[in-house]
Amino acid sequence: MSQKTASPERHEFQAEVKQVLDIVVHSLYTDKEIFVRELISNASDATEKLRHTQITEKEIFDADLDLEIQVTSDEEAGTITICDSGIGMTRSELIENLGTIAHSGSKQFLNALKESGERNENLIGQFGVGFYSAFMVADKVDVYTRNWQNDGESLHWSSDGSGAYEIAVIENERRGTRILLHLKEEYKEFAKKDRLEGIIKNYSAFVQFPIKVEGEELNTVQAIWLKNKSDITDEEYKEFYKFQANAYDEPRFWLHFSADAPLEINTLLYAPTENMEGFGFGRMEPGVSLYCRKVLIDSDPKNLLPDWLRFVRGVVDSADLPLNISRESMQDSTLIQKLNKVITKRFLKLLEEKAKKEPEVYDDFWGKFGLFLKEGVTTDFTHRDQLLKLLRYESSYTEEGKTTSLADYLSRATDGQKEIFYLSGTSRAAIESGPYLEAFKGRNIEVLFMFEPVDEFVMNHARSFEEKSFVSADSDEIDLDAIAPETDTDKEAALDSAASDSLCTFIKEKLGDQVSEVTASERLVGSPAMIVSGDKMMTAQMRKMMKAMQQDGGMMGGEPPAKLQINPRHPLVKNLSNLSTSDNELASIISLQILDNARMAAGLLEDSSTMVQRNYDILEKLSVGTADTKKVAKKKVAKKKVATKKTTRKKTDS
Ligand code: ADP
Ligand code: MG
Repeated sequence: MSQKTASPERHEFQAEVKQVLDIVVHSLYTDKEIFVRELISNASDATEKLRHTQITEKEIFDADLDLEIQVTSDEEAGTITICDSGIGMTRSELIENLGTIAHSGSKQFLNALKESGERNENLIGQFGVGFYSAFMVADKVDVYTRNWQNDGESLHWSSDGSGAYEIAVIENERRGTRILLHLKEEYKEFAKKDRLEGIIKNYSAFVQFPIKVEGEELNTVQAIWLKNKSDITDEEYKEFYKFQANAYDEPRFWLHFSADAPLEINTLLYAPTENMEGFGFGRMEPGVSLYCRKVLIDSDPKNLLPDWLRFVRGVVDSADLPLNISRESMQDSTLIQKLNKVITKRFLKLLEEKAKKEPEVYDDFWGKFGLFLKEGVTTDFTHRDQLLKLLRYESSYTEEGKTTSLADYLSRATDGQKEIFYLSGTSRAAIESGPYLEAFKGRNIEVLFMFEPVDEFVMNHARSFEEKSFVSADSDEIDLDAIAPETDTDKEAALDSAASDSLCTFIKEKLGDQVSEVTASERLVGSPAMIVSGDKMMTAQMRKMMKAMQQDGGMMGGEPPAKLQINPRHPLVKNLSNLSTSDNELASIISLQILDNARMAAGLLEDSSTMVQRNYDILEKLSVGTADTKKVAKKKVAKKKVATKKTTRKKTDS
């Protein structure tokens, strides 16, 4: 190998270099391992410059050398060598590029190209500090270099990073640059082959020249996000997804776009097939990595995308990103905020387009990932309007399993309708058999069906869509007649208003504080009664949640009392009206039972034991006289009943 021929020339670093070196070594980078990334990026840049030079220059020294980057290490000695066959450096370049801070030979190269109207997207360096990261882990760095010109000289630059460097002339160096790091004792682990390989794969997988570690070529992958869309096959897109996201599923669809303004970005984003959170794997981590000209900056940058887009996988590459910046300071930078804005907007636009042009693809996506978009509505005010357009729900107009958008819902509503009605329930069947839908059905007013608890939060946060407010169909203050007349005209006769009023008073008296009021309602058709909410926002589902919260430690001042509405046309209600004057006791327990049944339909009845017992009481009363039961047996049953009631009360009281 090379030998020294003349005594070395000593140079002091510029005053600022000393300062910056100190900053670089002690605080600029969070992860020590990134020195590998920086030196490989420099090697790649030097190789790219050589490739570029070869196009115009015929006389190239060592013209037959393969364009590749070789990495070797000696664990015992604690050394790492990174060797390229690139453009090399002359003496003045060594002084300028490695001895001057913030001087980037790569940037100069690019500027020279620009002046002649050319571009080169492949160069990474631009800030002129990356090289110094070597001193974070090494107490001595040797740089052996031979530039590409036939009459160039072989040179040896060396420094311990403290204040000065030396340059000596040597002999027989091949073209390019060889950097030898003497690792500090505590960083010798970086010389392990596995460790080195891992770091290179992580940060430099997309470098365009082959990288060999101990002679073994690492599988580098093409940075397809920088290629033209028309040059990439679907297969390549899918392969890249699996590589980048470490995924086993196929991507559902992807978004590949570039922009020059306001930022220079190249982005490739994927929607996965499977929702891992849906499988119960816990909260997903964001999966879009941030690159600057093919080199990884951060594999899980915070704030690059809103939280609700954490299922998205892919790459964002921005040439405007400073390579030499710590992760912490980057997360809050305005640059990241700008990227976030541009990317989120484009991704939402993609979803909107999918919904319009490929509704089946979108519906399937909605089925698996709809929850994330709902989360977005409740947490991301900036994108709420766009997100609302993407919501899909089953409704009283759709078939089972089919959904509608809010816009389509409104397109079917009459001009008089100022609301978007919805009902929550555990299933379509539960909602359809409940008492609330009847009146809407009878007037052909569409009601959205919501099956997930989060839906109520979504409606509450969003409040309205295109100026039509979301209203739960179990709310009291709905004037359906103002929207549409009832279609069914021949209906069962109702109790007259005097009888209906006195029945309401009777029931209220029996139910006491369990309800705030009892009224007759025209909204009911086939059911005798229902619980409605006086507060449009306080739906049955919300009550249920509040109740649950009270049980786990308690908050707020108790469950707000519900209103009971009875159906004056229903035979049971009509009979009860008579019974209230003839058999006060039976009418009382039937009133209680009606309340519990209505609670059950609203999903508000948690402990059914009291209700079941009362049901038996009613059955027993009705069967009196038809059976000739023995008095002894009856007494036993009565005793047992008291015991059961006591335990039930204990349970509900606690
Ligand atoms: P940057 O890469 O941002 O320009 P660096 O501090 O990493 O800053 O490198 C400074 C300069 O040193 C580079 O721009 C380049 O001109 C020169 N340089 C560094 N490494 C090499 C190399 N392996 N071969 C040739 N030149 C190099
Ligand atoms: Mg660099």
